[in-house]
Amino acid sequence: MRAQAGALLLGLALVACCGGPAAGQVTAIRAGRLVDPETGTIAANQVILVDNGRFTAVGANVSVPRGARVVDLSNLVVLPGLVDAHNHLALTYKEVPEHNVYYLTYVLDGTPLRAIQAVSNGIQMLNAGFTVVRDMGNAGDYADAALRRAIEQGWVPGPTIINSGIIIGGMGGQFWPTPEMAMQKNIVYPEYLDADTPDEIVKAVRQNALFGARVIKICVDCKPWGYTVDEIRLFINEAARAGLKVEGHVQTVDGARRAIEAGIWSIAHDRGLTDEMHQGMAAKGIFRAGTETPILLTGHTTPERYQRTVAGLRNAYERGVPLTFSTDADYWVPGRTRGEVAIEFIETWKAAGVPPVDILRAMTVNGYRVSETENERGPIRPGLAADLIAVTDNPLERIDALRDVRFVMKDGVVFKQDGVMTPADFFHGGPVRGWNVR
Ligand SMILES: [Zn+2]
Repeated sequence: MRAQAGALLLGLALVACCGGPAAGQVTAIRAGRLVDPETGTIAANQVILVDNGRFTAVGANVSVPRGARVVDLSNLVVLPGLVDAHNHLALTYKEVPEHNVYYLTYVLDGTPLRAIQAVSNGIQMLNAGFTVVRDMGNAGDYADAALRRAIEQGWVPGPTIINSGIIIGGMGGQFWPTPEMAMQKNIVYPEYLDADTPDEIVKAVRQNALFGARVIKICVDCKPWGYTVDEIRLFINEAARAGLKVEGHVQTVDGARRAIEAGIWSIAHDRGLTDEMHQGMAAKGIFRAGTETPILLTGHTTPERYQRTVAGLRNAYERGVPLTFSTDADYWVPGRTRGEVAIEFIETWKAAGVPPVDILRAMTVNGYRVSETENERGPIRPGLAADLIAVTDNPLERIDALRDVRFVMKDGVVFKQDGVMTPADFFHGGPVRGWNVR
């Protein structure tokens, strides 16, 4: 009952400012067709009821309650929101002035500026249908946690953010820093947390948990020495104490072997992932966040690299590795939003011969699982948070339908309608969804 009273207050707050559904008012969505990525099926003429930000009923025989606000998507194909399992919303490197060298971006752009850009990038992702984004580090001094909280508290619209805090690596992280950078930590740092000993590993995990991480990201092999199997296990165990999983940035076969042996949650990037590694990942259920850059994003891959990426993705699919859709799209492509860059990655999946239904599963079902949201949000199912999108064509037959998202609902609030962002109901002057401690 207390929850219902709180819900009523929330409804009042929403209607007072923005003309959304009235307090206690149910929203009824008429879906011309409704896709279930899990089963790979599509159902006609469904009614979806939303009350207080959650789905309450889904089906063909669900009646629309009297007084309900009706959202007519009878000409569209409705499906669950998409997941980008690896992005960096608080990082945007670009041709001018830094020639796409992110090392320099860290010097040029401070954390507050990057946090504001992260808000913009988040809105661009939501506009493209991504309702969950795993933000995997390189966010300055916890701009990722600030972004997540700002969205959760109802200040700005954006995807649900699963953020890693600062990437943990041996001294230097992904950099080869000068002694001034590394020892005095006043240039570029805190882009990485140094952790070279067991004590430092424990402390770094706890620091990220303290400052709002929802997942831990480590550099497995950014240096030739990298982390041992035992050290990776220490990360996994310490993160588990905080309720967090561990993703490993992996760039060598040897690093992949160690991460798989340690039983890591997910592996980012495909460079170290051979057929043998894929077999190990499939056996252990380790998620692959391969960040498969499409060839059309000129300058961010090469034809040779792209061919290896396509072949690797194909191999992973054939081996039954749990695949997630991941982009690492942390750069600006002039003329495109961050969301448009991210959706472009379906080209690599098509080139790898992955059927549309399994591309869609990577973008939804497996995305929720790797994000650990599947019991809270993702599927269009009574009891879960009301996130959904709509497109004009059936993505089970034509995955490119996802390039034209016409409608987006997040937590039961309409963000985009008829192809146009209508985000007014997302802006609040205070924490309307409750103040939260990081
Ligand atoms: Zn990345």
